[in-house]
Amino acid sequence: MNDKIVQFIQNTFATKKFIPLHEPRFIGNEKKYLNDCIDSTFVSSVGAYVDRFEKEFALHVGSKYAIATVNGTAALHVSLVLMGVGKDDEVITQPLTFIATCNAITYCGATPIFVDVDRDTMGLSPDALHLFLNKNAEVKGNQCINKTTGKIIKACVPMHTFGHPCRIDEIKAICDEWHIALVEDAAESLGSYYKGQHTGTFGKVGAFSFNGNKIITSGGGGVVVTDDETLAKKAKHITTTAKVPHKWEFVHDEIGYNYRLPNLNAALLVAQLEQLDGFLENKRALAKLYEEFFQDSNISYVKEPKNSKSNYWLNAILLENKEQRDMFLEYTNSNGVMSRPIWTLMNKLEMFKACQCGDLSESLWLEERVVNIPSSVRV
Ligand SMILES: *Cc1c(COP(=O)(O)O)cnc(C)c1O
Repeated sequence: MNDKIVQFIQNTFATKKFIPLHEPRFIGNEKKYLNDCIDSTFVSSVGAYVDRFEKEFALHVGSKYAIATVNGTAALHVSLVLMGVGKDDEVITQPLTFIATCNAITYCGATPIFVDVDRDTMGLSPDALHLFLNKNAEVKGNQCINKTTGKIIKACVPMHTFGHPCRIDEIKAICDEWHIALVEDAAESLGSYYKGQHTGTFGKVGAFSFNGNKIITSGGGGVVVTDDETLAKKAKHITTTAKVPHKWEFVHDEIGYNYRLPNLNAALLVAQLEQLDGFLENKRALAKLYEEFFQDSNISYVKEPKNSKSNYWLNAILLENKEQRDMFLEYTNSNGVMSRPIWTLMNKLEMFKACQCGDLSESLWLEERVVNIPSSVRV
């Protein structure tokens, strides 16, 4: 079977050469806009492309404001800071995520709590969240207190795994009920919608990434989105060293970050955003081919969940068990087709071993079986 899969992928990408998991495509105005930047000398922290990108991105996802950042981790960090997450707070997230989610929580001085995912969405489960809170938390005033640690559960960061939306409306309702701020890690889900609404726009703030492997890229970059003008202003302020505007004086009114996106990267990003709709269509066609191919096999293809439209950023399949998974990884990677397992669960990593966890059976089940297969836009 594995040889047939390699053949199928080679045919689908029309090459016998190495096929990576996800390559960027620069087939639009990238060079033109980069040249503009260089010719204008505005390559760094000030420039028209940053403003243009922020306006166009906000329009694209349907949020009022977008604030570009130097990467997705920074966007997440700032989002959590905006929600007031600080020292000794706790933040609920899923164990099945990329390390950046937990790193950002830790940068605030806060500790992650791990709650299980749904098997079909691979994202945070509202049912598991509800169970965890009922068992372990209580609301005092307008704060959610963890009865075990006595600490405040300040925020919840669900993640839309590989671009498949989780049940974000139910998660939002639970967060509201428990006075927990919802911060969406939408790093992987640009172009993904849940019940017609763009992912990343359900909470007060949401974060996206434009790393080299994401659906569109600025080399490195990220963005925070929000509908709240005060939060948007604060985001801009703290990502640009918290400098007080003045003709010549250097006055900074709090500890800020140098998290702004350089104009060069923004130029690349504006060109990439123009091509997003085409990329999405292209990926949907690839997803359909994979779905049909795996229909009659004992490998199941992960389809977009109910009520949602996925960007199909990374295609995922489910092997029967860990042994089958390892054989698949071994065969494909030694035969020129790149594949990767899903992440090692965060609660198993040294830094997060002591963190509180709910029942994580679905995450453990998925961890042993999920594999990503080549998903680049085909040209
Ligand atoms: C890519 C990614 C991020 C952000 O990554 P950066 O490399 O910092 O842009 C955050 N969370 C998830 C789940 C991601 O996949």
